[in-house]
Parts: sequence; C-alpha cells; structure tokens
Amino acid sequence: MDKISTIVPCYNEEQALPYLYEELVKVAQKMSGQEFEFIFINDGSRDRTLDVIRELRKKDPRVRYVSFSRNFGKEAAIYAGLEAAKGDYVAMLDADLQDPPYLLEEMYDTLQTREYDCVATRRVDRKGEPVIRSFFARKFYQLINKISDTEIVDGARDFRLMTRQMVNSILELKEYNRFSKGIFGWVGYKTKWIAYENVERVAGETKWSFWGLFFYSLEGIIAFSTRPLAIASILGVVLFVIAIFWTFYIITKTILWGEPVAGYPSMICGIFFIGGIQLLCLGILGQYLSKTYLETKKRPIYIAKETEESVY
Ligand code: UDP
Ligand code: MG
Repeated sequence: MDKISTIVPCYNEEQALPYLYEELVKVAQKMSGQEFEFIFINDGSRDRTLDVIRELRKKDPRVRYVSFSRNFGKEAAIYAGLEAAKGDYVAMLDADLQDPPYLLEEMYDTLQTREYDCVATRRVDRKGEPVIRSFFARKFYQLINKISDTEIVDGARDFRLMTRQMVNSILELKEYNRFSKGIFGWVGYKTKWIAYENVERVAGETKWSFWGLFFYSLEGIIAFSTRPLAIASILGVVLFVIAIFWTFYIITKTILWGEPVAGYPSMICGIFFIGGIQLLCLGILGQYLSKTYLETKKRPIYIAKETEESVY
C-alpha cells in the first residue's frame, strides 16, 4: 500500500478549506487502496484558518498541519509541506479548489507505470483572468525561457504529484529565494503534463496583486538566469563603439565646417542617456547582490509555531 501526502498552502482560506477537505476525502475514498495524509500549511493567516485546520485534525487523524509564526509566502509553505510529508507520493494543490483533487487518481495511475517521476498540470487557457495580467504572464514566460537554461512551462500550475525521490531532490535545494516553477524544472526527472481548463476559486479571493506577481516574476528571472548581468557589459560595449564613431564624426565635422557653439541638446541627451543606462545596470547588479546577501544569511525558510504534534 502506498502512502500519498497532499500538501496545501493556506493563507486566509477559512472559507475554502471545508470544501477542499470534503473533496480530498472523496478522492481518498475512491482511491481506497492507498493511504492518505492531508497536510495543511497555515502561512500566517489572519483569519480563522488555523482554527478550521485544528477542527479538521480533531475529527480526522489523517489531517496534519504546520502553522507558521507569520506569513512566509507560498513558496515557503510548499517547502514546509514537502518537508513534513511522509508519503511515497506527494501532491500539492491550492486551497481554493482551482486544482481539482479528482485528478489525483489519474495522476497516481500515470506514475504507477514507472515511466514518469512526476505528473504536473498546466492550464490550457487563462479564462477569468484580467487581460493585462494574461498578457504580461505570457511575455514573462517567453522572456524567462529565452534567458534561462531551466525550462519553465507557460501556464504550469503548482498542482502536481511527485515520487518520493523527486521530493527528496527538491528538499535538497535549500535556497532562501525560492521560485518553485524553476526548481521543479531544475531538478529534472521526467514530467508528464496534463492540461485542464482554468477553474475559478470556490471561495475567498486571490492573494496575488499585479505588483505582487510582477516582483515574483523578477524573483524567477534572477533566481534562474544570470543573463541580465550580461546586459550591463553588452550595453557598455555598444555605447563604447557608438562613442568612438560619434567622436570621429564630431571631429571631422568641426574640421570641415567649424563649430557654431550650441551643442547643448546633444550634450544633455548624452548625459541623460548614459546616466539612465548606468542606473539600470546598477539596479540589475543590486538585485543580484541583494539576493546573494539574503542567501548568505542562511536564514530558515520558515518558522513553525505549531504542528499537529504540538497542540496546546
Ligand atoms: N498562499 C499562501 N501564502 C501566501 C499567498 C498564497 O500560502 O502568501 C496560498 C493560498 O492560500 C492558496 C495558494 O497559495 O492556497 C494560491 O493562492 P491564490 O489562489 O491566491 O493564487 P492564484 O490562484 O490566484 O494564483
Ligand atoms: Mg487560486
């Protein structure tokens, strides 16, 4: 008998959790040949999420949980879940039922063929999402796949079922700045992708603002590509070449036709142009430096305040 762990990051999900739990129980009933554990990670919710989880634990010993001392973000919650999971297979899904749990059976059967190490999901459309968000999301995936060696699949959700071996590999990546979509790709292994249509969340609301996603995508780029660092050097070379030609042109022009002073517009343009590029390059450098700074502190990825084994 295999044990399957499901891990669910929860941030202010008091409304969605009961629905999700119900669905998970249904799946466990259908897959009665397998043992289940349902792990919930309370990511410092400000509502009654923890109470809801405690209640579930009281009536169902398959429920386990880790409750953070504050909000550490979904990536940290995923890591905590993977660490807590004891199953031979580990599934992770969102609390809002946007990742339909009934797919787990199909995913598990696929892994039984031993042909794959992981079954992951991607959505075929971005229905129900603001147009502008879809646009930027698509551009982000195009860009990151161009500049990173790790493949990051467009539309990939975090919803997936993995073998113990793959989970152990992911746990070995202890970096503080976590970008799961990249990490899953980086560890390798064979992944089967299944597609499904986007579903709206059952209750509660999305935790991602536009800027939240924007900075998250920057995180992804910086964590999985050092190409932007090269931009600085390339810009430097290009500017140098332009400067040589321009100097040559100005000298020739002055010798041939003289110089009636002026020159203010071209000078100010040059100053702004070069100043801007310098700031951009400094900014890029700063981003990498700040990430390095955070990594060198070797802080824990999360702090657990309570688990099912430490009930007060
Ligand atoms: N989440 C979390 N910590 C956070 C933000 C979100 O654990 O700081 C969880 C959230 O509870 C949900 C999942 O991550 O289970 C996905 O969040 P959401 O549904 O808001 O994102 P979306 O589906 O809109 O991309
Ligand atoms: Mg969601």
